[in-house]
Amino acid sequence: MIRISADKCIYSMNSQNPPVTEVEPGATVVFETKDCFSNQLHAETDLLASLDWATINPATGPLRVRGARPGQVLAVRIEDIKVALQGTMIAGPGIGAVGKHMTHAQTKIVPVEGGEAVFGVSDSGDSGLRLPLRPMIGVIGTAPAPEAGDIPDGTPGVHGGNMDCKLIGAGTTLYLPVFVEGANLAMGDLHAVMADGEVVVCGVEVAGEVTVKVELVDPAPGRSTGPVLETDDAFYCIASGPSLDEAAAQALDDTLAFLRARLTLPANELGMLMSLVCDVQICQVVDPLKTARVRIPKTAFGRHRLEF
Ligand code: CA
Ligand code: CA
Repeated sequence: MIRISADKCIYSMNSQNPPVTEVEPGATVVFETKDCFSNQLHAETDLLASLDWATINPATGPLRVRGARPGQVLAVRIEDIKVALQGTMIAGPGIGAVGKHMTHAQTKIVPVEGGEAVFGVSDSGDSGLRLPLRPMIGVIGTAPAPEAGDIPDGTPGVHGGNMDCKLIGAGTTLYLPVFVEGANLAMGDLHAVMADGEVVVCGVEVAGEVTVKVELVDPAPGRSTGPVLETDDAFYCIASGPSLDEAAAQALDDTLAFLRARLTLPANELGMLMSLVCDVQICQVVDPLKTARVRIPKTAFGRHRLEF
């Protein structure tokens, strides 16, 4: 099995990044990943001010998938996510969506043990809250189109990137558009736990490794949109924009296109059904672009069970 070490990483996604290795479609690959701070914060005395910002949000890769062509879709089946035994969080004045309430710059070490993140503070003064792990991938994307230029890993977009969608975890499949030959997949920014919104601008940031299987899909004309996540019971169209309103509007446009390519219903009927069964949800509200997703239940359309 191919393993890509965490030192083989990029800090922005663009069409010119050379691949670090290549595989055939159907291959299983392990991406070893640093945390979003490039593992620079080791202790609670290491504050954000000490960071080398040039190495924020490393994404391991890119991986070239032989034969991938622009216009195709790369299906990334996420088979497993392992996280390290220690995660990190930060908070501070002006940082994130609740930054105006934060009193000082703080780094918090969050041990990971027994399938839980040990938050370490509680009202009752005991050893603290323990939260069940929900490992997820914050940054995952293909190389963007040449005309999109250089997109920092911290920014999400139609290529994926820093979507910070808490549902991108083991057992799901992420469908990403292919813009360059080979697709050039990269990923990083694992979170051991994170809630929708990511309100202080981080989850439990953690190093780790992700096992994925990569396959190529030829979408029928009109079927290709931005990133789509498949879980056991639903698809999610994920989109980003300058505001949450714009992100949600794009995710809804993508959802309508997704449904029109698979169902023969008139647009009005589809719109009404979307209004009944497709939940508009928030991925994150703190990155340079905000990210929303629309949930499309697989079995909500009568005899049609939706497939990608
Ligand atoms: Ca992130
Ligand atoms: Ca992060």
